[in-house]
Amino acid sequence: MKKVLWQELRRTEFENAVKGDAVVIIPVASTEQHGHHLPVNTDANCCLTIALRAAEAVVDDFPVLVLPTIWTGYSPHHMPHPGTVTLKYHTFVELLTQVAASIHAHGFQKILFLNGHGGNSAVVAAMRTKLAAEEGISVVGYTYWELPSVSEEWKRISQSDKGFVGHAAEIETSMQLYLQPELVDMGAAVWVPGVFGDPSTATREKGERLHNAAVNALVGILRDYHSGKLEDTLVWRKEIL
Ligand SMILES: [Zn+2]
Repeated sequence: MKKVLWQELRRTEFENAVKGDAVVIIPVASTEQHGHHLPVNTDANCCLTIALRAAEAVVDDFPVLVLPTIWTGYSPHHMPHPGTVTLKYHTFVELLTQVAASIHAHGFQKILFLNGHGGNSAVVAAMRTKLAAEEGISVVGYTYWELPSVSEEWKRISQSDKGFVGHAAEIETSMQLYLQPELVDMGAAVWVPGVFGDPSTATREKGERLHNAAVNALVGILRDYHSGKLEDTLVWRKEIL
C-alpha cells in the first residue's frame, strides 16, 4: 500500500502527490478532559483513526495524505478540569489558516479538515468561506459525526443518549472501547461535571459500527472530492461569496 502519512514522505514524493491531485486531510482535534473514564487524547484518536482508515481504503486509486493531527483546539469550556489545553479563538483560526496555506503553497488543491471536537465544529465549518475569501484557497471541512448518514446511524445504535453526541458519553466511550480499550476505565464511566450524556451504556460493538460508518462516509467524500463531484455540489457557496 502507498504511504498516507504526510510525515513519512520525502521531499521528492510530495511532487508526485501534487501531480496526482492528492486530497490532503488535516485531522483537527483537542487535548481535553473526557470525564473520569477516558483519556485526554480521545478526540485526536477518533479523528486520526477515521482519517487514516479512509485514506488507506482509497490510496491505491488516487493519492491521499493525512497530516499529523492538530492536537490543540478551542476548548475554553473544558478548562475547569485538569488535562485540558486550549488555544484562544483567534489563535486557533490562525493556526488552521496557516497550516492550510502552507499545504496550498506546495501546490495541493484539495484540502479537507476532519474535525473530532465539538468546540471546533463551527470554526472548521467556517474555514471554507474564510480561506476562499481571504486566501484564495478552496477547502472543505467536516466533523466526523456529521458526515453523511453517520448521525442517522448513531440514532439507530444509541441507547441512553438517543443519538445525542454529547461529551465523553455513549458515542465517544464506545469509540474508545473499540480503538484504545486499554485507556478506558469503565468502572468510572458515570456522569460527572464536564460529561454531557451517559457513558454507562457504551460498548465496543457500538463504537466499531460508528467508526465504520464514519470511515465509509469519509471514503465517499474523498472519492467525490478527488473526482470534482463534491465541488460541483458545493458550488452554491462560491456564488454567495
Ligand atoms: Zn471528545
